[in-house]
Amino acid sequence: MPSEEHAAEDRNKDQDLYCPSAQPDMSGAVVFGVVAGTAHEPHVRYLDQMVPVTPEVTDLAQPVEPAEVFRIGAPCAGSSCRHFDGARCSLAQRITRILPPDAGGLPACRLRPRCRWWQEQGEDACHRCPLIVTLQHHASPDVVEVARPPDESPF
Ligand code: SF4
Repeated sequence: MPSEEHAAEDRNKDQDLYCPSAQPDMSGAVVFGVVAGTAHEPHVRYLDQMVPVTPEVTDLAQPVEPAEVFRIGAPCAGSSCRHFDGARCSLAQRITRILPPDAGGLPACRLRPRCRWWQEQGEDACHRCPLIVTLQHHASPDVVEVARPPDESPF
């Protein structure tokens, strides 16, 4: 196949990738995990089936926000996201660099075939993914550092 076609195929694949820490109002959003554990030591449980985000699903989160209790995937916003560095997800890079791996095995995750973190960081991302809560009020200093976009100064 000519290299131009390869490049076009790669671009299309890239556009199909999902963010695994998305917001419920993003187009195409699906729930693929539920936050269990405790406020200070959350641990995501992965669903057997992904569930499209609907008003009925978001209502299940009340009285808290859906992103506090659900892990949601949605098509990656690319350059519209502060974590995207123009080529890759900087959030996934910080997760694998800063957080220790979870003690469990590779999560049985339905989002994996289309997950950007998996695509870019492989199992290193998956071994830390259960520790991630998209909207967390009691985040550890490490998680606060992970969540800080590259354009945001810590000072
Ligand atoms: S990083 Fe791994 S476990 Fe987390 S959503 Fe992506 S494929 Fe699933």
